Amino acid sequence: MQSYDVCIIGAGVVGCAIARELAQRRWDQSLRIVVLEAHERAGEETSARNSGVLHSGIHEHPGSLKSRLAREGSVLAVEYAVRRRIPLLRTGMVIAIAWDDLRQGLWRDLSSLWRLRLNAWKAQIPVRIVSPSGLRTMEPHLRALCGIVIPTVAVIDSGAFVHALKADAESGGARFLFHNRVTAIEPRTDSYVVTTERQRLRAACLINAAGLHADEVAALAAPARKYVISPLRGEYYEVVTESKKHLIRRLVYPALPPQSVGKGIHFSPRPNGQLFLGPNSVPVDSKTDYTSRKTPPGTFMQALQKFLPALEERDLLWAYSGIRPHVKVSNGEKSDFIIAADCEDPPLINVVGIESPGLSAALGIAGHVVETPCLRRRFHMSGGAPSRSHAVLDR
Ligand SMILES: Cc1cc2nc3c(=O)[nH]c(=O)nc-3n(C[C@H](O)[C@H](O)[C@H](O)COP(=O)(O)OP(=O)(O)OC[C@H]3O[C@@H](n4cnc5c(N)ncnc54)[C@H](O)[C@@H]3O)c2cc1C
Repeated sequence: MQSYDVCIIGAGVVGCAIARELAQRRWDQSLRIVVLEAHERAGEETSARNSGVLHSGIHEHPGSLKSRLAREGSVLAVEYAVRRRIPLLRTGMVIAIAWDDLRQGLWRDLSSLWRLRLNAWKAQIPVRIVSPSGLRTMEPHLRALCGIVIPTVAVIDSGAFVHALKADAESGGARFLFHNRVTAIEPRTDSYVVTTERQRLRAACLINAAGLHADEVAALAAPARKYVISPLRGEYYEVVTESKKHLIRRLVYPALPPQSVGKGIHFSPRPNGQLFLGPNSVPVDSKTDYTSRKTPPGTFMQALQKFLPALEERDLLWAYSGIRPHVKVSNGEKSDFIIAADCEDPPLINVVGIESPGLSAALGIAGHVVETPCLRRRFHMSGGAPSRSHAVLDR
């Protein structure tokens, strides 16, 4: 049976970022790192099915992990994208109130905008308040009463991001094993024995970054079911009419209260020039139900036509959906990322509930995981100068 120092389960953006961080930080000690992935490639699930926005953290509670790690992670991700030549659209984010809201919901929207402004102030996120004429200069076709602009927000090509992280992790010595869905985990005194559809291996530390399935993987390692993910689907329509797909060039979001489950259906331009509308938020029974009972375009029109009256249903084509790994919280609690060392010896770190802004936060999450005290202790304990050679894998 092959032995590793660290086994990461899941090669989404988070698993790849953790593998890279571990491989790079400890390059002179050459940790033996393996990443097990159920699919044939990295980033095939939620990491490929999102808006690609590198969020500032403004929508999150200022004291939360989501807020801190999105703030840190998005700055790192922009620098990384520039360095690695990953397609990046530096649009800034507009959070706007529509003229139509004068008739209904104006106070609710103004108070949401104000609370977002306060979040920005507390978390030191640079924002500007913009008047209708300021907005018209920025986005001539946008019909909005007022808004705030976060100039630093960018949109990344999330597929290219994941693949660059994976490539860096591999150059640092991490091994990726695809078609290796983890089916069993046996805790031993000083390690875990991990069984996949294809092999068994031993790992001194286990990091569960299995996204939508992180609750099931956590339950494989510790029989008590500690986490429950409730899948929440978000769908996108694409604006396909040639004359309309360039009418909005920036990210434009509605002003929803902070800590709403989604951030609202928004205009979502991409680095390759496509313009999408979405995502909505629909609870689904299955973690793989991407297409049943598609939401008709009316919901999307209702959310965004007030900002862009030229938009018509015939301009839209259902494009794709993603599923949020949402962990329900009790009333009054704030939903947050869970990064928990659920066993200290041998270390087991569960990374659960990484919904938005998980893409933005990935590099921040990786730093946070690698700093976990039990992980650092373990490597110091196993100590000395570990061998530079990597495990030779059974094929
Ligand atoms: C509609 C939508 C829009 C979003 N928009 C944004 C956005 O604009 N900005 C932002 O920051 N975030 C956004 N997010 C959130 C972001 O996409 C996620 O937080 C991020 O992709 C999570 O990455 P991950 O690596 O944790 O999960 P995943 O990408 O799901 O990766 C987990 C991996 O684990 C593998 N796996 C699962 N079980 C096993 C097993 N038993 N054995 C082996 N492998 C396993 C899976 O195959 C998968 O590849 C959005 C999410 C959704 C759904």
